[in-house]
Amino acid sequence: MEFEDRYRQVQGHNYDCLLFDLDDTLYPLSSGLAAGCRKNIEDYMHEKLGIERSKIPELCNVLYKNYGTTMAGLRAIGYDFDYDDYHSFVHGRLPYDNLKPDPVLRSLLLSLPLRKVIFTNADKVHASVALNRLGLEGCFEGIICFETLNPIHKSTVSDDEDDIAFVGRKSPPCPPHNISSNAKIFDIIGHLSQVNNNINVIGLPKTPIVCKPSEAAIEKALKIANISPQRTLFFEDSVRNIQAGKRVGLHTVLVGTSQRVKGADYALERIHNIREALPELWEAGKVPEANYTGTPVETFVIA
Ligand SMILES: [Mg+2]
Repeated sequence: MEFEDRYRQVQGHNYDCLLFDLDDTLYPLSSGLAAGCRKNIEDYMHEKLGIERSKIPELCNVLYKNYGTTMAGLRAIGYDFDYDDYHSFVHGRLPYDNLKPDPVLRSLLLSLPLRKVIFTNADKVHASVALNRLGLEGCFEGIICFETLNPIHKSTVSDDEDDIAFVGRKSPPCPPHNISSNAKIFDIIGHLSQVNNNINVIGLPKTPIVCKPSEAAIEKALKIANISPQRTLFFEDSVRNIQAGKRVGLHTVLVGTSQRVKGADYALERIHNIREALPELWEAGKVPEANYTGTPVETFVIA
């Protein structure tokens, strides 16, 4: 149809949703939250899980590399702990004062005539605090966070759709933390140090935690929020998350550098450069009856 042709011409890729990572994407790495997070994770591993200090930096790196987050890796190799306890320890002492209100970004986001959704591996408390500090509350239709993809503390992986819960719903209480229940911890560093790392990766234990950059996690998030990857731009500071997003069909924008990498369709040094780099995103609102017509996914909106 003539109208549709004109619409596509204006719209280019015909996006209807913008999916944003939160940390180091909507605010700069220089804020120091990432460094604070890393330190708190190391303290948690020593103080709560009893891991020797000298072993922690290498273990952190190996777990992060192989499981997406250190937390997911710790669960994979056999540590059991309360997820809420972990998140409150790791995020509770972050230098949130370094996050200042960003009225420029707020105005940019609010002027975009498209769905906007947050997708973070962090928990809902951190996401909410960080967005409030940045003055970005109310800019997003919903938040896909740790609890969205991991609603129940379980020791086994499950694909049961009934397990999916949304932010705002109550989850059953977690069992109490008990270090002594960690009967057998998998020696991942010893395992990977053997002859051929590429082969040994195959023998790694699975984690029950669902998180980026797992393609299954991204696909689950898209399904929950009713997002079509072909019509969505994914903004992320992590190269491996960008590449995983690309593999599931998302259009991708690497944030934090102007250097594009494999898997990134665009690269922005700062998220604030979005209007210069992607002016067509604002065109959607200028085409009558052709912009976003989706129904808001009310069940996962944080009120
Ligand atoms: Mg990030």
